[in-house]
Amino acid sequence: MTNRVVLIGHPVAHSFSGAMQQAAFDALGIDARYELWDRRGIDLADAIAELRGDDFLGANVTIPHKEHVVSLVDHLTEDAQATGAVNVISRDGKKLVGHNTDVAGFKAALDKVVGKQKMPRHAVVLGAGGAARAVVSALIAEGFQRIVVFNRHLHRAEGLVRHFSRSASHMDLRAMPWHESVLEAELAKTKVLVNATALGMAPGETPIPAELLPPDLFVIDLIYNPPVTQLIRDAVSAGDVTLGGELMLLQQGAHAFELWTGQAAPIDVMQAELDKVREEGLRQVPVDMGPAGETGGSVAGAAGDTAARRPA
Ligand code: NAP
Repeated sequence: MTNRVVLIGHPVAHSFSGAMQQAAFDALGIDARYELWDRRGIDLADAIAELRGDDFLGANVTIPHKEHVVSLVDHLTEDAQATGAVNVISRDGKKLVGHNTDVAGFKAALDKVVGKQKMPRHAVVLGAGGAARAVVSALIAEGFQRIVVFNRHLHRAEGLVRHFSRSASHMDLRAMPWHESVLEAELAKTKVLVNATALGMAPGETPIPAELLPPDLFVIDLIYNPPVTQLIRDAVSAGDVTLGGELMLLQQGAHAFELWTGQAAPIDVMQAELDKVREEGLRQVPVDMGPAGETGGSVAGAAGDTAARRPA
């Protein structure tokens, strides 16, 4: 029986996870197939229930379902509980376990960008979705003393702050309205800027204007497609140290692979596949559109297609 792992999200066609994980399964001779399931919120519970079948090793969960999935699994690991978001599901017999490997993935990115310098204590986070929750959780664990979250819809950022009220009780975690003057004032005081919004996948698109970026920041953009976003380009011009989302993608994926298979992830193989996808574009793979899909199967575009630039 071929085992199955699925990516559940909406949309999913753009994701690099399928190529990366399939290359890892194949390299270790694991009989498993990675499938892309495009599911709207209304079909999420049914999709999660299907994972209880014996042929499933587990799943990835992506935009926009990471928070909704929390109530649909049987058990949450510490990171999933702390963040209130799940990006990986594994099976324990018939039970489904929700994990958050984005937290460890982001920690790896933060360590990489800061390098040998002293770990800063003040961060600005743009976005308040599932990825932002993983970022904030990692920053709190890392000992940050002030984290300011900006989001298009302020109430969502306020909800994030409320979620972390206990674990952040010793420090200053706050939501602020997305006004350029407020952002500029906060950026002048911070050392770390993280883009955890979906803004930056289209050419020229960026969450904040270039002139707001001061020099000497550490800037991490979670977006990995394109590998160099407008924000990263602007930050380099401003004299900042920058990192795109690919390292986080690789690290969260390696942790996920280990949870599904119990084997060490072939990280070099996964990195090589990401390099290939970046250079050659995504190979066309069928996308299962589920019960809500009107057109049935569709295909992932090459890297230049609009679909390939949508959020991961
Ligand atoms: P999500 O839960 O759907 O949240 C999306 C976030 O983007 C929200 O804060 C949303 O603001 C904001 N946003 C979307 N469109 C916007 C717009 N037009 N203007 C301003 N803000 C906008 O998604 P997620 O799972 O957190 O993912 C967020 C991003 O992180 C995605 O681009 C994803 O690819 C990336 N990511 C990367 C990795 C990696 O391994 N590198 C891992 C996880 C996620 P509102 O709340 O106001 O709608």
